[in-house]
Amino acid sequence: MPAPSGSPDNDTVGAQLSVAEALCEQRGRRLTPIRRKVLELLLRHGRSLKAYELLDAMRAVHPGAAPPTVYRALDFLMDEGLIHRLDAVNAWSACHDAGGAPHDLLVVCTGCGAVAELSDPAMSRQLAERVAQTGYVLATHETEIRALCPQCQQKQPAEGGHPHHH
Ligand SMILES: [Zn+2]
Ligand SMILES: [Zn+2]
Repeated sequence: MPAPSGSPDNDTVGAQLSVAEALCEQRGRRLTPIRRKVLELLLRHGRSLKAYELLDAMRAVHPGAAPPTVYRALDFLMDEGLIHRLDAVNAWSACHDAGGAPHDLLVVCTGCGAVAELSDPAMSRQLAERVAQTGYVLATHETEIRALCPQCQQKQPAEGGHPHHH
């Protein structure tokens, strides 16, 4: 798979994999070669990947990789907070600061699947309280915000108008 321009370099990906390995070790979990590979592909890609894109990328390095194996690896990586599940674009993205504060706000570009990860506990607390007033409780600790990244904003028609009608 050719790396898209602006994707992280080898040193960055290597450092992020080391952090992931150290985190798993501390928790007594095992970052198996297949789990590590899935994480590496997501880190290298720099934006989110859909299931079929991830499977294609996996099969390029492990021709026998079966979907259940890849899905189990994704479940593991999500449990460990090493990747984020993005319902807005039906994809997964690597967490680019897994050792730092948990990302509770994920700004997802619906145009290209790029993700900006934010940590804002105060805003999340406010959101949770506001939701609680309705009698509901938030089902996840991560809130997805649908947005357009700078590149995709430029691709939008200048005269405006929202492309989707509801
Ligand atoms: Zn993250
Ligand atoms: Zn975009």
